[in-house]
Amino acid sequence: MREVRVRFAPSPTGALHIGGVRTALYNFLLARQTKGTMILRIEDTDQTRYVPGAEEYIIESLKWVGITIDEGAGVGGPHAPYRQSERQSIYKQYAQQLIDADHAYYAFDTAEELDQMRERLKTAGVDTPQYNAITRMQMKNSLTLSKDEVKKLIDGGTPYVIRLKVPRKEEIRLNDLIRGWVTVHSSQIDDKVLMKSDGMPTYHLANVVDDYLMKISHVIRGEEWLPSAPLHVLLYKYFGWEDVMPQFAHLPLLLKPDGNGKLSKRDADQLGFPIFPLTWRDPNTGEVAVGYREAGYLPDALLNFLAFLGWNPGTTQEIFSLEQLTEAFQLERINKAGAKFDFHKAQWFNQQYLRAKSDKELAQFLLESLKKENISCSEEKAVTIAGVMKERVTFPKDFWEHGRFFFQAPEKFDEGVVSKKWNDEAVKVLSAYRDAVSKLSAFDANIAKTTLDEVTAALNIGAGKILQALRLSITGAGGGPDLMMIMEIIGKNEVVSRIDHAVKTLPVKKS
Ligand code: GLU
Repeated sequence: MREVRVRFAPSPTGALHIGGVRTALYNFLLARQTKGTMILRIEDTDQTRYVPGAEEYIIESLKWVGITIDEGAGVGGPHAPYRQSERQSIYKQYAQQLIDADHAYYAFDTAEELDQMRERLKTAGVDTPQYNAITRMQMKNSLTLSKDEVKKLIDGGTPYVIRLKVPRKEEIRLNDLIRGWVTVHSSQIDDKVLMKSDGMPTYHLANVVDDYLMKISHVIRGEEWLPSAPLHVLLYKYFGWEDVMPQFAHLPLLLKPDGNGKLSKRDADQLGFPIFPLTWRDPNTGEVAVGYREAGYLPDALLNFLAFLGWNPGTTQEIFSLEQLTEAFQLERINKAGAKFDFHKAQWFNQQYLRAKSDKELAQFLLESLKKENISCSEEKAVTIAGVMKERVTFPKDFWEHGRFFFQAPEKFDEGVVSKKWNDEAVKVLSAYRDAVSKLSAFDANIAKTTLDEVTAALNIGAGKILQALRLSITGAGGGPDLMMIMEIIGKNEVVSRIDHAVKTLPVKKS
């Protein structure tokens, strides 16, 4: 079998979209599984869309999620340079090859002339006017001008592009690994520009030439490139590279959570989830978009989530380490249909990955937050807290944000719980409980519980009735981790003082 060489080929036109990370991941999984090579190529031939910092951002993003690059930008390798803007002379040479073989031609039409042509065709009833096998013969190009005229124009510095001479009637077929046979008639394709007037190649030419030179075996990319694939097939044919043409796999689109249309940054902003792997500050607008990393997603959880957007192993297992994904992944099991972007599922994966960590590892997240808050805490205590909280956290920052009460008496109390649960009965029981606890010589979760049972039994009130009020006085909220454990961790004196404060300050309603 052919050696697997795959490439992730982003354009540095801004932050990397999360869908791009999925594309990179599928390429990476195939490379790892087959002990092949993962290449990173920067497709920056469109100078007008170049955004400074984007390339570095892409490289850092891949590093963060754990997609390692064997060859390419930032790493080097036998086919360097891997940045297309540095390969200009190579493309020129291949464009010339196509011209010499009569598969491409020079075109000198100005923007106005192109507009006029489109207008003319529209008036004649053509819906989508194209520069193609028919119209090219009325335009200013090396097919309609004499050799001398062409030479004169070029020597005189007249701007020109090089266009592909797409045949008028030809079926172009390609066998996509995900979609099966795709057939397109050449009349659907216009004479695409291969070299622009600034001397830069277009995406199509650069992409095909580089995939050939870099010996790419599989082109795995987003579905938005499927319409370009027939053109690429044509280029492989005209270059005489059909026998080494890569296999194509066009990945399904990522859809909005409700399945209606393509996922956009706007949807993500509106629904409150990140669309970029790392926080990105748009250099033009200054707008900042928080990334998955900064929002507290673990890279392994994010990769696991992304792997399942359009692929599944065919079993019910959902949690896959990168090694397991590498083993289980199959291009043939990728769906054709678009994948709904369910960000709740991303959170679920994050929860699962957090829970799978040891209390000791989780404690580090809490300790990090506490350090920023200038709160000291022994590792032992942090480990206990992490253990108590781990079933309830989605993000590492939750240990602090949802567990402040372990360190600070509540300043605010949940209004809803106050109005529903704080009444004279609760105050009576909690006052008695406070007094009982203050007299104890030893205190832990068990003692806290038995003392509560004794106090409520003596007053003939079910403990369940006042449990939420007790929790409210200790944490300020109506829900949270095991209350008895919370009391054990904060200690007897703090329990007494918090109940006392609540009893004295919260408004009491008649029960
Ligand atoms: N530069 C293209 C992009 O930005 C790459 C498409 C491809 O992989 O061929 O997505």
